[in-house]
Amino acid sequence: MTFAVIEPGATLGVMGGGQLGRMFVHAAQRMGYFTAVLDPDPDSPAGRVSHHHIRSGYVDPQGLARLADCSEAVTTEFENVPAPALAALALRRRVAPGAEAVAIAQDRSSEKEHFVRCGVACAPYAVIETPQQLAAIDAGLLPGILKTSRLGYDGKGQQRVQTRDDLASAWEGLKRAPCVLEKMLPLAAECSVVVARGADGRMVHLPPQLNLHRAGILAVTEVFEGNISADLACRAVAATESIAQGLRYVGVLCVEFFVLGDGSLVVNEMAPRPHNSGHWSMDGCDVSQFELQVRTLTGLPLTAPRQHSAAVMLNLLGDLWLQDGAQRTPPWEAVLQLPGTHLHLYGKASAKPGRKMGHLNVTAQTSQQARATALAAAALLGIEPF
Ligand code: ATP
Ligand code: MG
Repeated sequence: MTFAVIEPGATLGVMGGGQLGRMFVHAAQRMGYFTAVLDPDPDSPAGRVSHHHIRSGYVDPQGLARLADCSEAVTTEFENVPAPALAALALRRRVAPGAEAVAIAQDRSSEKEHFVRCGVACAPYAVIETPQQLAAIDAGLLPGILKTSRLGYDGKGQQRVQTRDDLASAWEGLKRAPCVLEKMLPLAAECSVVVARGADGRMVHLPPQLNLHRAGILAVTEVFEGNISADLACRAVAATESIAQGLRYVGVLCVEFFVLGDGSLVVNEMAPRPHNSGHWSMDGCDVSQFELQVRTLTGLPLTAPRQHSAAVMLNLLGDLWLQDGAQRTPPWEAVLQLPGTHLHLYGKASAKPGRKMGHLNVTAQTSQQARATALAAAALLGIEPF
């Protein structure tokens, strides 16, 4: 399959108005496209910067029809877009990624089945949908993490469990929703790979990212020569490509991995869209993950991204706006005084703990420099050193 190219001047649609949609809209507009965002929130980060903002629910047939009326092609910016909505849009317009791939990524158990089909190892796990399955859990999966199969993000819908009793009460706490129990693995590190795959099957990828999570939320991403071993990087890229290939995926896909003490790689999960851990590419690479999303959607050529700077990304969570119980503006002036700092804020009206408000990319010629600047910025902002 190949796509006819959708030339600049056309309108590109996006399901969802969060920060990922906003950065997609910026990339598309820079390349001369018009944009349409469908999101019910009148203040959504992407809706506010898009040419068209359709304020409707994600499954509202009228809203979907309006999006299809005005867009030449439609993409998505969060994985919980109902797959039937994408399928309905696909009857009228090019939709990438497709409903089928998004549906697999939406459900942890079908996602894991896909990983296994592609020959990529994931953490030992069991599906828990019935009391019988709960009772039959192999003790070898404990201690573990109970995760809802659907609608989890930033560590929400997850509970760490030590014993069978813990597990039973955690499942009750999650209202007996379909879950997977994953064995708790001793992580040496976490990394991720962003791949873009065109309709013709061509794939390009960003260099693998080394990620630090705190309390289940991405805190820091580091990308430079030696952030992870060359051998590990190769294995992570190969696994990501086989996962994308197996889905006949079109678009940008991110796969997150755990690295274990013995150097083995275990896949955690995938996101059928650009990913927080790929944000560094906006300033550290000659093609960002959002431009790759535009290119895959429009059928424009995919060229291999070239990293031109060592990069560190710091997530800016709402906590930075809330100190000692009072609202404050983080010290942007002092931070931007540091060479190679690039501030990205998403235009969200109110800060809440754990809410992703923006990110700071730090670029430099060397990894030492990038790290030193990022640590200085972190100290100014009140982010713990890494
Ligand atoms: P997001 O979608 O925002 O990436 P999520 O809510 O889907 O997050 P996961 O990626 O499943 O959550 O887990 C969040 C973090 O919790 C992981 O990045 C990792 O640090 C830790 N974690 C999750 N599963 C395991 C596991 N089996 N063993 C050890 N640590 C884990
Ligand atoms: Mg995750």
